[in-house]
Amino acid sequence: MRRKTKLIHGGISGDPHTGAVSVPIYQVSTYKQEGVGKHKGYEYSRTGNPTRHALEELIKDVEEGYAGFAFSSGMAAITAVMMLFNSGDHVILTDDVYGGTYRVMTKVLNRLGLEATFVDTSDIANIEANIRPNTKAIYIETPTNPLLKITDLEQAAKLAKERGLLLIVDNTFSTPYWQTPLALGANIVLHSATKYLGGHSDVVAGLVVVDSEQLANDLHFIQNSTGGILGPHDSWLLMRGIKTLGIRMEEHEANTRKIVEFLVQHPAVKKVYYPGLPSHPNHEIAKKQMRGFGGMVSFDVGSGEKAEQLLARVRYFTLAESLGAVESLISLPAKMTHASIPKERREELGITDGLVRISVGLEDVEDLLEDLAQALA
Ligand SMILES: *Cc1c(COP(=O)(O)O)cnc(C)c1O
Repeated sequence: MRRKTKLIHGGISGDPHTGAVSVPIYQVSTYKQEGVGKHKGYEYSRTGNPTRHALEELIKDVEEGYAGFAFSSGMAAITAVMMLFNSGDHVILTDDVYGGTYRVMTKVLNRLGLEATFVDTSDIANIEANIRPNTKAIYIETPTNPLLKITDLEQAAKLAKERGLLLIVDNTFSTPYWQTPLALGANIVLHSATKYLGGHSDVVAGLVVVDSEQLANDLHFIQNSTGGILGPHDSWLLMRGIKTLGIRMEEHEANTRKIVEFLVQHPAVKKVYYPGLPSHPNHEIAKKQMRGFGGMVSFDVGSGEKAEQLLARVRYFTLAESLGAVESLISLPAKMTHASIPKERREELGITDGLVRISVGLEDVEDLLEDLAQALA
């Protein structure tokens, strides 16, 4: 099956009982047992629900893995994955990971004894230099948020394998349409499905796909034990979103290319961050491991004041956190998504006060270009 076909025909489609072409929403908590322990595969919806199961099968197929799991948010998914480790274990993470990932590692899971080191994983030597006897995993976000740095996943997988570590990849920005980390050697891929997979700013969800039976059993045990599951209605909305992921990603990308061209030549823009630009420091790696460069662009307008003026003037770019939806969004990472990272650390990473991030939507690109032109003037 090719990629767009798989998004529509992967997993479980329709309902064998009625012929309905859409998977029904099984809004149910418990299931009748014929006798004690005799049931049709479902006992209680925390453990398993047919609508959630259909979504889990779909994402498993789309990410080319062994089993899929749906959670109530991206953070619930990330936290569940971290529960695979024990107190005293150590994980190496990308330094500009999603702010919430940094927060859960440094303010919550650290209290339970899980140790974390944040390094620039776009240089594999930095990962290797930080491996300790208690290191259990490498956790990579690529492209990163908001600077769109790229880590070579094949190289990271090679290192992880040599050193007996798990490789975990947050694939939220690329989506499986553009990048399939398990096929490149990762063991676990996860998503904030709130973003591109849902795609319509109407559902908060997280997804995980693992590459082995062992990890599938362990993660299902954690999902059922800790209970951060996705409800049936949200599971259904997410399946609906995933069906159009291919055409949406193609269109996000086409619009983004034109916007990047415009930004690069604009005198008010000091710097543009986009992995599709030949000037991007990791462009060659991006070309090797991604089928497309995505719809996220960051650019620096020089100061916080100028950035706030721009945000106040745009009409079609909605000022909001989040990304990956049909509507174009604009944000100021230093004051919004990355506000939970201390200022000194932000400056170290290059997340300046003048850095603006846009998530290019599916509007007519001419409207978006005119809007940016008037707001930057
Ligand atoms: C939004 C986001 C998350 C967190 O997901 P939620 O669904 O908001 O809990 C994790 N990683 C990345 C890259 C994100 O953009």
